[in-house]
Amino acid sequence: MQDFDYAAPISTNEAVRLLADPAQKAVVLAGGTDILVLLRERRRRATLVVDVKKIAELNELAMTAEGGLFLGAAVPCSRIYREATIAEKYSALTDAVKIIGGWQIQSRATVGGNLCNASPAADSIPPLAIYDAVAEIAGPSGRRQMPVAEFCSGVGKNVLARGELLVAIIFPPTPVHSGAAYQRFIPRNEMDIAVASAASYVELDDKGAIRKARIVLGAVAPTTVRATKAEEALIGQQPSDALFIKAGELAQLAASPIDDMRGTVEYRKHLCGVLTRRTLAIAVERAAANKK
Ligand SMILES: Cc1cc2nc3c(=O)[nH]c(=O)nc-3n(C[C@H](O)[C@H](O)[C@H](O)COP(=O)(O)OP(=O)(O)OC[C@H]3O[C@@H](n4cnc5c(N)ncnc54)[C@H](O)[C@@H]3O)c2cc1C
Repeated sequence: MQDFDYAAPISTNEAVRLLADPAQKAVVLAGGTDILVLLRERRRRATLVVDVKKIAELNELAMTAEGGLFLGAAVPCSRIYREATIAEKYSALTDAVKIIGGWQIQSRATVGGNLCNASPAADSIPPLAIYDAVAEIAGPSGRRQMPVAEFCSGVGKNVLARGELLVAIIFPPTPVHSGAAYQRFIPRNEMDIAVASAASYVELDDKGAIRKARIVLGAVAPTTVRATKAEEALIGQQPSDALFIKAGELAQLAASPIDDMRGTVEYRKHLCGVLTRRTLAIAVERAAANKK
């Protein structure tokens, strides 16, 4: 492990001041489940590690006045999946945080860290994107917001400038008759990273037809991919297995995966079809049950 100084500020402003210090090469530590590995393996360098787990704002997990969700960037996965309201209104997020590592990882790892780490296989990012979640960012020149779908700019890269900190992820309210689901494929029945993943969101109208759909694929391109052609094919249609199969075929066309030891291009594309079909079926079932 390389030598570094450590700071644990209790306010966002102090964290930003430390991160922006030109005399330091500072990195953020939330749960540490990615960054400590990177520092130990010298794939990242730092002279200062800024632990953000003690900042109250970043630990907030609450429904907003508008009926959405405020998810502080330092909230661990285990706190998220224990919340019944989140499981009910943002079920795809719950699907994802339940499968990030094992329980030891889940009690430290954050969705904020999962997003900032910007792995193509990160499990929380497709669910954040289907809910149209927004990233709240604090930096030396104030605050800004941006759609989570635009936050990752490449493999391991995000849009944060020097001194900027992800404060929270804010979800808009989910309407009645909406539902969502997230699934990934991993080769072993234990901790591993996604070979392909899919998150689907649907809203149904009064007659049970699909009014709105969002499908986002993970692990099949440098950043998440929106399967817009598949979404379009669903609009105005009554849900059926045949429709989900068609949407799955269209979703495959949106993927541009790589070949590696985990799977070939063809295999990953096939998985996109299967996962889209399955998550759509679950999302529709959840939407039909969501009458509140
Ligand atoms: C055994 C094991 C199993 C794993 N399994 C999975 C899995 O199944 N699925 C999966 O997706 N991931 C998995 N991971 C990866 C990791 O646990 C997740 O990416 C986790 O969500 C990262 O969160 P963290 O809080 O630990 O991030 P950290 O390690 O603290 O930070 C990650 C990166 O984001 C930056 N960062 C963190 N918070 C902020 C912030 N608020 N503002 C700006 N930058 C920030 C850090 O500087 C760092 O670059 C696994 C890791 C391990 C070790």
